[in-house]
Amino acid sequence: MRTQHRSSRTCSRASCQLPAIKTLTYIYAESTAVLGPLATYAEPHSYDLCQMHGEKLTLPNGWSVTKLEPEAAQAGPSEDDLMAIANAVREVGSQQSAPNPTPPQPPEIGRRGHLRAIPSN
Ligand SMILES: [Zn+2]
Repeated sequence: MRTQHRSSRTCSRASCQLPAIKTLTYIYAESTAVLGPLATYAEPHSYDLCQMHGEKLTLPNGWSVTKLEPEAAQAGPSEDDLMAIANAVREVGSQQSAPNPTPPQPPEIGRRGHLRAIPSN
């Protein structure tokens, strides 16, 4: 009994039953679509695409697409770049590592719930 077979994901385009090999993720805030390797889990705003539809990608006007190729990743950021990023992350982390015995106070919530009166003048 095979209970743990790989779920076969198919292209999310209508009337397309080809196996999905790429995942397209829409980043609405930046009007960018990122086409990368098939995601391991489904995220909101992401769509699985087959080879064909991944290449014949059409986007709304003003949108750009960023293609993440597994091969390109190796020739991507140099080791120095990665180290710089790692160091930056480490710096931020060390700044926030001070023990903070008092938990942050929750925002003041009155009887009006989350709605706050904003003076309008
Ligand atoms: Zn397709």
